[in-house]
Amino acid sequence: MQDSAGGITVTSEEKIYDCIIIGAGPGGLQAAIYLGRYNRDILLIDRGGGRTQHARHIENFLTQKEISGREIIEIGLEQARNFNVKVEKGTVTKVIKKNQFEIYAGEKRYLARFVIVSSGVYDHLPQIENLYKFLGTSFFTCIDCDGYRTTNKKLVIIGNSLKSVHLAIAMKEMFTKDITLILYTDRVPDEYREELVEENIRLIIGRPVKILGAEVIEGLELEDGQKVECAVIMSHFGYKLNDGFLSGLNLKRDRKGFKFIVNNNYESSLNGLYIVGPLNQGNDQVIIAAGEGAVAAIDIKKRLLEL
Ligand SMILES: Cc1cc2nc3c(=O)[nH]c(=O)nc-3n(C[C@H](O)[C@H](O)[C@H](O)COP(=O)(O)OP(=O)(O)OC[C@H]3O[C@@H](n4cnc5c(N)ncnc54)[C@H](O)[C@@H]3O)c2cc1C
Repeated sequence: MQDSAGGITVTSEEKIYDCIIIGAGPGGLQAAIYLGRYNRDILLIDRGGGRTQHARHIENFLTQKEISGREIIEIGLEQARNFNVKVEKGTVTKVIKKNQFEIYAGEKRYLARFVIVSSGVYDHLPQIENLYKFLGTSFFTCIDCDGYRTTNKKLVIIGNSLKSVHLAIAMKEMFTKDITLILYTDRVPDEYREELVEENIRLIIGRPVKILGAEVIEGLELEDGQKVECAVIMSHFGYKLNDGFLSGLNLKRDRKGFKFIVNNNYESSLNGLYIVGPLNQGNDQVIIAAGEGAVAAIDIKKRLLEL
């Protein structure tokens, strides 16, 4: 069937899926595996890439001494396909709710009774030469993921807000005494400066432009030519949600208007639309996103039985 939506002609499948899952990260894949094992009609749409792919050494996932994010995604996709989940490559651009959900991806429109959004977040990373060479091995973005990997190493933390001061103090308590904090802003109140002095954390106001070192990180070069020695870097610039396609739904968000509010089953303020992973207010970890995906899937199983 052909239809016209917002000026573009879309091809619509008549089939109504029991559930469409948007995003093949840990949250979406775990939900897909559960729903596939209930013998439901499930479509998983993913545009490729994704944040978990940057996690090169995951050590905090039960039973996995070490596994890469890429392996988790590849194995998860294989598991989901084995339970007859249909996987399509595509970028979802819009979700509408009428009698059922309409999901638009490219020139296609799909219909579903339930939707699980697990499209993840996108890290704000500073523009520094060689960053991607070391991302996930010695350039990190998350204390829960990689704080441990900085243990007893020469650490530089870079950030653009005073939250980085709290991060530096926490990192010192748990992981390493040798910390330099590089802040992009010079608006640092005296009490913060004093606390850093007390904690013996060096403070530099400036902008790193290049990571030095061929195989391993040896230091950072700043805009003014200054060089700061280090072996590991933690960057703290926050992230944005991959949520553009939800903008027409007027979903409830937290007080800051940032993260989506969900109930105990990860259902959003819109009946039938679930949001798992770091888009909601929970912690941003693989095992947590996966757990949330399982909870959402079990709830959808119950609701499908009631239809
Ligand atoms: C460097 C690094 C190291 C990390 N290390 C760890 C660790 O050691 N342990 C740990 O537990 N966690 C770690 N994490 C965090 C972990 O990656 C996140 O918790 C996880 O990504 C959250 O999973 P998610 O389900 O939200 O999916 P994501 O991995 O964010 O995947 C979302 C998927 O949705 C897709 N998508 C987005 N928008 C659309 C759209 N419009 N249409 C279709 N598809 C879309 C994306 O392409 C992607 O494939 C790390 C993260 C980074 C960046």
